[in-house]
Amino acid sequence: MIFTSTRGHSVPVSLRALLTRGTAPDGGLYMPQSWPAPDLQRALALGALPFADLVAALIALFDDRPEAGPATRAAIARAYARFAFAEAPPVTALTERCHALELFHGPTLAFKDYALMPLAELISDEMRRSGGEATILCATSGDTGAATAAAFADRPGIRAAILFPQGRVSPVQQRQITTTGVANIAALRIAGDFDRCQALVKQLYASPEARHDGFTAVNSINFVRILIQTGYYLATACRLWQSRAEPVNFFVPTGNFGNVLAGHFARMLGAPIGRLVICSNENDVLPRLFETGQMVRQATQATLSPSMDIQVSSNFERMLHLLTKGDCERVNRLQRALEEGGSYSLAPAELAELRAGFSAFAAPRDRALAAMAELWRRHRRIVCPHGATAWAAALTLNLPGTSVVVETAHPAKFPEAFATLGPLQPVAPESLARLKGRPESCIDAPADAARLRALIASVPYGAAVPVA
Ligand SMILES: *Cc1c(COP(=O)(O)O)cnc(C)c1O
Repeated sequence: MIFTSTRGHSVPVSLRALLTRGTAPDGGLYMPQSWPAPDLQRALALGALPFADLVAALIALFDDRPEAGPATRAAIARAYARFAFAEAPPVTALTERCHALELFHGPTLAFKDYALMPLAELISDEMRRSGGEATILCATSGDTGAATAAAFADRPGIRAAILFPQGRVSPVQQRQITTTGVANIAALRIAGDFDRCQALVKQLYASPEARHDGFTAVNSINFVRILIQTGYYLATACRLWQSRAEPVNFFVPTGNFGNVLAGHFARMLGAPIGRLVICSNENDVLPRLFETGQMVRQATQATLSPSMDIQVSSNFERMLHLLTKGDCERVNRLQRALEEGGSYSLAPAELAELRAGFSAFAAPRDRALAAMAELWRRHRRIVCPHGATAWAAALTLNLPGTSVVVETAHPAKFPEAFATLGPLQPVAPESLARLKGRPESCIDAPADAARLRALIASVPYGAAVPVA
């Protein structure tokens, strides 16, 4: 199986090469050149495996090295041994046909752990094998940075530079990034929003020196990360199918379109998935696209759910590649229009195909808070403000059939969101409470690719520069 760029002007690569790459040299994202045909029976067989085996089997579907299987499986099992639930992520039934998928039982209490912990093991194995060195570049809206810091701390041959937007991540998320105290992680604070951080990282990957610098992606730019996330959609849909043979809808809090795309990949492989509902906060660029057919980038607003404060949903480029049936020149044109002019329009057939499999819903602050209060009143359930956007969609749309609301983070990561909810307050697990007393350190970094590259080369990793 080989992988080509969505923009069509880069040399194809193997899955192993993808592990330690960023964007393709032409600025595009890697996609498999072909897909295994959808197969419900294969999906059900995969869904019945222990979770680490399932994820390893998914990777094997796209890996042309059958001999790599046992090492991949061992790496993934090591990663999930650090989770509170090492089996598949827990699914809690709220009513007969409405379930919550709890993706916040990993070391940093957000779904990012599900892919970052295995990726760290796989990339470490690769560095050991090749004797090379990697510099992980990570742009974060909060949770990817936290998971990256925990996943890569103290790994030989690997450094991680984590770019986070100043004042745009929650205080808990910031502490998870800035208090590691280990020598191979640098927390870099950028004066700008997440989209700025992500654009900088993409510029660095596109620079001629990127390979030489060993720049490696762990953002959802990395195809393997999305492939790993495909596992929990497949496992959940297949498990629910066993008790009621009907397709399962998923409501997914969305920012960069990575997580919901993983759901689409599971559906493409044949998992019994009905609709995928893209849920947004005030940054409703995708719901507006669904309504009008136009992708129009606006200014990013700071909201209750900071990990979704994104206007450029990077992975939508992969969706565009699928919607245009692999027309790389069209993807190039549209992405250039978005980068240079801030907008593009889908063709009617593309929009129709998108709407056939997905819905979109925007839940601004009041809707999300109302959903949080309602979940507590009806089910005594405390949900994080990201999950709340998906709950607002599920409670409003009332889709027929079985529904699963994807809860992407632990509510205690966002205590600020509960300020107006009176006695309804999340309790911080011990791992978060412990962070409170630790000294924070980070470096104010320039929002300029050339200067940033120089800083990343010379940065005193782990240096204690107190947060001002
Ligand atoms: C990252 C994140 C999201 C958005 O996921 P994407 O893959 O970027 O769409 C939603 N909720 C939480 C808690 C997150 O950390």
